[in-house]
Amino acid sequence: MSGSWTCSHCNAELQLIGEEDFRVGGAAGFAGMLLGGWNQLSEGTLALQMYRCPQCGHVDFFLPDR
Ligand SMILES: [Zn+2]
Repeated sequence: MSGSWTCSHCNAELQLIGEEDFRVGGAAGFAGMLLGGWNQLSEGTLALQMYRCPQCGHVDFFLPDR
């Protein structure tokens, strides 16, 4: 999806920073923290698109294939 997202805090349009590969290592990984119960992914990396709000600095993550 290449549509635009709006900030959940101030409603400004989010800017795509880029795609990051996060290491998924159970509950210890950053992505594991972020995604809570997604431990079935066990090990590996998870690609997430990072969006940043230019107005308030809020950052959102999205799965690229959604
Ligand atoms: Zn914002």
